[in-house]
Amino acid sequence: MSVPESVGLRFSAELRDRLVTLRRELHRHPELSFAERDTTARLIETLGEVGVSDVRRIGETGAVARISGRTRSAPAVALRGDIDALPIQEATGLPFASTVPGVMHACGHDIHASWAVGAAALLAADPAEGDVLVVLQPAEEVGQGALAVLESGAIDDARAIFGGHVDRRFTVGQVVADDGPLAASADTFTIEIVGAGAHAARPHEARDPIVALAAVVSALQSIVSRRLNPATAGVVTVGTINAGTASNIIPDRARATGTIRAVDSDSRALMHEELRRVTESIASGFGTEARVTIDRGPPPVVNPVEQAGWAREAASAVVGANNVVPLGFLNLAAEDFSNYMERIPGCFLRIGAREPGGPVIPAHSPTFAPAEDCLFVGAAVLAECARVASRSIR
Ligand SMILES: [Zn+2]
Ligand SMILES: [Zn+2]
Repeated sequence: MSVPESVGLRFSAELRDRLVTLRRELHRHPELSFAERDTTARLIETLGEVGVSDVRRIGETGAVARISGRTRSAPAVALRGDIDALPIQEATGLPFASTVPGVMHACGHDIHASWAVGAAALLAADPAEGDVLVVLQPAEEVGQGALAVLESGAIDDARAIFGGHVDRRFTVGQVVADDGPLAASADTFTIEIVGAGAHAARPHEARDPIVALAAVVSALQSIVSRRLNPATAGVVTVGTINAGTASNIIPDRARATGTIRAVDSDSRALMHEELRRVTESIASGFGTEARVTIDRGPPPVVNPVEQAGWAREAASAVVGANNVVPLGFLNLAAEDFSNYMERIPGCFLRIGAREPGGPVIPAHSPTFAPAEDCLFVGAAVLAECARVASRSIR
């Protein structure tokens, strides 16, 4: 292992082998969001092997395990591992690469699921003060799994929640547990411009939705540049435009879809409002009508100060304070862990997953492969987060 000795010592040789085997098996058999049947069965089986048998199923593809604490009245804490894969054809060349065509653990959720099982094993052997709820969460990639877990009521008594993500921008053994914004909200918008169609040679008889939509798309660029505080990050991206059937026809409607990313709820609300206002007023200036719908995705991940402090204390105990490092840049990807944090305070961590000297490979790429030793860092850090939080909650 290339992980710090302090980490390795927390695992028996048997548990190390078990986790590596589990992780490789999950990687070999990835399953998409809400289809994680074999994954969950395998995870529950391994939990049983490490002495964790109090498991509640969440829908068909998720589960929450409860590990008893030392003191009945002590507060419960939740740990979350997401378990789903992505529709990507793997190109890592790993000996345990995906055997499922077009499906791959390209976001490291095979590692996250194994962290959850590893943390459960560590906590079963050396419990926290209170109960620990280990969440095996389906469907993170479609932003719906966390809500399904919350709606089940299975973690209603959790007073804090922790989770992490592999990150190849950091080497194995490094851990990020910053307070403040760590991931963005991701909301999807659809704009439909309704005009009036006509012959392309008689535009005066039309109300051209394509010209109106072109102006709308240009004007949307001013939301981030002119309306959002320049000290705050945000994104408005138009990802699709569709209109028309032939070169000599002005169609009666045009459609665009896109994404809005924000790192706090005020700028999120501002961008929603501006998107509607700009679109509707520009469309009406062109004599057309705008229909705007915004589907709210996960909110931003903003780690509160107190819980992030507990996570840093836990990470320092596992990897040493000098390996607890700042993120150093803002991340505008989304993570449905934020759905938990709307109800339960907690901390989302980044766990280093690059072998020393290795390349930075982005997640969601066909060659993404976290360094396997981060298995032990993540499991040990999450278990320690539960211990620190459960003795610190007032
Ligand atoms: Zn992902
Ligand atoms: Zn992910």
